[in-house]
Amino acid sequence: MSSRLFREAFQLLAEGLLQRMDFEVCVISALRDDHMVVVAVAGSDAARERLLGARTPLARMEDELAIAETWGSLCFVPAERLDPDAEVFGWVPDIEESDEADAWHPLDLLFVPLRDAAGQLRGMLSLDLPRSRRRPDAQTREFLDEAVRQAMPALLMSMEQESLAERVRLATAAREAVRGIASDEPIDRIADIVLPAVMHGFGAEGAWLRTFDEDGSQSIWSGLGTGEVLPQSLVHLVEGVYRECWNEQVTSLVGAGIEPPAILTDEQATEIDEHLCSLGIASLLCVPLGLGNECLGVLSLARRPDDPPWSSVERDEAFDLGKDIGRALANARSYDREQRIIARLREVDAYKSQVIRTLAHELRNPLGAVAGHAELATRATYADDVRRSLDAIRIGTARMEGLVEDLLMLSAVTDPGAPLSPEPVDLAGLAAEAALVQQALAESAGLVLETDLPDEAVLALGDPDELDRVCANLLGNAIKYTPAGGIVTISARNAGDEVVLQCTDTGLGISEEDQKRLFEEFFRSTDPEAASHPGTGLGLAIVHRIVERHRGSIGVESKLGQGSTFSVRLPRA
Ligand code: ADP
Repeated sequence: MSSRLFREAFQLLAEGLLQRMDFEVCVISALRDDHMVVVAVAGSDAARERLLGARTPLARMEDELAIAETWGSLCFVPAERLDPDAEVFGWVPDIEESDEADAWHPLDLLFVPLRDAAGQLRGMLSLDLPRSRRRPDAQTREFLDEAVRQAMPALLMSMEQESLAERVRLATAAREAVRGIASDEPIDRIADIVLPAVMHGFGAEGAWLRTFDEDGSQSIWSGLGTGEVLPQSLVHLVEGVYRECWNEQVTSLVGAGIEPPAILTDEQATEIDEHLCSLGIASLLCVPLGLGNECLGVLSLARRPDDPPWSSVERDEAFDLGKDIGRALANARSYDREQRIIARLREVDAYKSQVIRTLAHELRNPLGAVAGHAELATRATYADDVRRSLDAIRIGTARMEGLVEDLLMLSAVTDPGAPLSPEPVDLAGLAAEAALVQQALAESAGLVLETDLPDEAVLALGDPDELDRVCANLLGNAIKYTPAGGIVTISARNAGDEVVLQCTDTGLGISEEDQKRLFEEFFRSTDPEAASHPGTGLGLAIVHRIVERHRGSIGVESKLGQGSTFSVRLPRA
């Protein structure tokens, strides 16, 4: 039944009572946690407007009970007994105060605590404003008491049904909280979300989540502050119960006076009951958490002796909740596994970078010495064959120096510990400079080198040295892989909130297959003509890393035999 239908049922009850009693206002409140919440107001529209949904702390009602006169089931608090400084909850009728001894005072309180068969307080019925404007005399009190007694069963039944519906509504809300768990939440976060939601949603005093982890260990989170609801020795006993529950697709209930699950012997059940009793727990609802054939853990929900028993609707809700939590746990496990693999891969990657960096550093000095001496040696006069050897040494060391520089650059732009310190950089200026530097090289290769640059600045936000390296590498490649007679063009332009750097050539082009691996470290083309040019296969990997750490993108358009265009897009400064 929806809460609207319950409200209507309470309203009818309140109106029925009002017809039989000589009062102008009748109010029904239901106990929710530690507040009385008004669920129906019959009689005055002003009172209904003011009171419906209003909450009064239970403690306040207890204060009033302590000073009330009791007339059978009714409690009466005359205005003169109330603390004049206390906050006024509720609605005060707009009537004149009178000096007559038995006149009804606007602050007079007349109410009936609604208690169930077990003596538990469930709600309250209040009456206000007698038509006679007199405090009830002995005869009226008797009549009122009788009328209230007659209405009590119907009132209590409605209260019970309403609180059950309310619990189901809360349980559904708990399921929604669990369903909202993202697939990358770690297990302890899941416990943080699940435990408060289920404790509130199922009106449980304590909640424990235990997972049967892949390595056999078990973890516990408690919503009550107690680490464990059952000691280790009992947990092993009960684990069988949970797994059985998942196989049978049911929940299970343990506690004193409750038929124990068939899998437990009488002694085991008694041991568990006694332990729960010592914690003040009357019943423990065991909800298996699982996915597919596997039981991944268990959720235990505790209620105290004063709490209502677990209804079958609640148990069904709890079982479905267990499936949702099971799914979240399975996600968390695979996410956890993925994260461990990623962390391991990162470690391997960091180790590889470290080895490369160390090697490159160690090679740099001796290589520099060889290159320097080879350079010096060329100044002397030698026989032709010695000179040829010296030239070969010079060329070889120059290549090795290039490789070492590339390795060091790659490791620098890959190092997560060396973040960018960006500043506005004019890409048009960098492109013009790169063209100037490489003009002679292009001419000697028989190429036309063109620039296509605007008058305005093309400002990217980045590191000038790294962006300079991007221009130099792209232009260097275009010149290297374009045969004589070709044209190479470098351009830069603003494009909305981006800047675009492009390098176009009419050279060898790159096959589709090669394009897929172009930005990998050490990748060199499978095309024999391209491979005949010396290179390290690191130039584009460096460009790619630099663009990535500038939060940009790089793409290539190319056709074998026709030429290539590399485009770099970066955020505009
Ligand atoms: P390297 O030029 O040192 O080999 P790069 O990483 O700069 O290394 O380039 C990788 C490969 O991509 C090159 O070996 C070449 O085959 C191909 N390549 C790069 N730029 C071009 C281009 N403009 N035209 C044709 N092929 C290119």
